[in-house]
Amino acid sequence: MNFDRRIYNFSAGPAVLPEEVLREAQGEMLNYRASGMSVMEMSHRGSCFEEIISEARSSLARIINLPSNYEILFLQGGATLQFAAIPLNLARSKKAGYVLTGMWANKAYKEGLLFLDARVVASSEDENYSYIPSVDEKSIDQEFDYLHICENNTIYGTKYDVLPKTGVVPLVADMSSCFLSEEFDISSYGVVYAGAQKNIGPAGVTVVIVRKDLIQAELSAPTPSLMRWDLQAEAHSLYNTPPAYGIYMCGKVFKWIEQEGGLAAMGKRNHEKAQLLYDFLDQSKLFSATVKGSCRSRMNIPFVTGNDVLDKEFLVSADEAGLANLKGHRSVGGMRASLYNAMTIDGVRALVTHMDAFERAHR
Ligand SMILES: *Cc1c(COP(=O)(O)O)cnc(C)c1O
Repeated sequence: MNFDRRIYNFSAGPAVLPEEVLREAQGEMLNYRASGMSVMEMSHRGSCFEEIISEARSSLARIINLPSNYEILFLQGGATLQFAAIPLNLARSKKAGYVLTGMWANKAYKEGLLFLDARVVASSEDENYSYIPSVDEKSIDQEFDYLHICENNTIYGTKYDVLPKTGVVPLVADMSSCFLSEEFDISSYGVVYAGAQKNIGPAGVTVVIVRKDLIQAELSAPTPSLMRWDLQAEAHSLYNTPPAYGIYMCGKVFKWIEQEGGLAAMGKRNHEKAQLLYDFLDQSKLFSATVKGSCRSRMNIPFVTGNDVLDKEFLVSADEAGLANLKGHRSVGGMRASLYNAMTIDGVRALVTHMDAFERAHR
């Protein structure tokens, strides 16, 4: 397909970014604020980049009302490297709990098994991860180093409505696909982490927010320096050359979120967008959502016709209409619309209008 305009990109990640942000970056591409160079060309130790990373950090801190006992790190290696960094940095008793809610939660658990006694405390595998299992507080050993959850399940389209109660055990959440999509209370968590390429920037940056008392200098196993949160915190995320351009772009997205009205505005808009699609799906006689009830994600919405041939036909027609990347993950099938912060309500309206026309043509 060839387009001479920007299309509606429903990809689960890397995903759509705000057009205003891309345009601003375009304007600064050759000569960043009279520095005479691109951000890609400058030293990460220079004053220009130092300002970029410290502004990104303070903007993010304002957005989430960060208390002073939390540290923001901008790291590399994706959410996937944190699957290993979490057990390595948090191990004390070397026991931890995991809730299995899909592929990413499972990958985190399997990585955890490499380093400590990782235990499954709840799972929704029995129904192909189409719901969030309830976690019995009694099943959480108070000696666990942490309880790991994947807060929004990108592939299956589920999200925690209520966080599990963990007692004194720190809650660790993979927020890759819901980070900054709505208001949340950071003080409910010990650690929050997110790969940038879903909701806050380009691939290459991973945001890790850690409660400071959980950052240990004496680790219980040999750990590569680059994975150590204590060294990264000490170096203000500049232990080695950081993903500088990615951090610059994330900073722009944070500024955009602030200008748009912060997380309250993001949450309201995301609520409206998701409601529009779910309302259509719930009355449709052709399409149906694969997730029911209160654990529906507002970021990733899988849906099916129940007929593989029709699914394929729908995907082709959507592509032609400039509604791109709607193919569902193979483990759910059908379609999936990802409605991250930068997806406009107009994009969701265009999708629903197209689905409605497709349904009428196939009655
Ligand atoms: C995409 C995704 C990941 C993997 O992220 P990488 O940055 O590619 O390592 C992990 N967890 C969730 C919830 C995701 O959506």
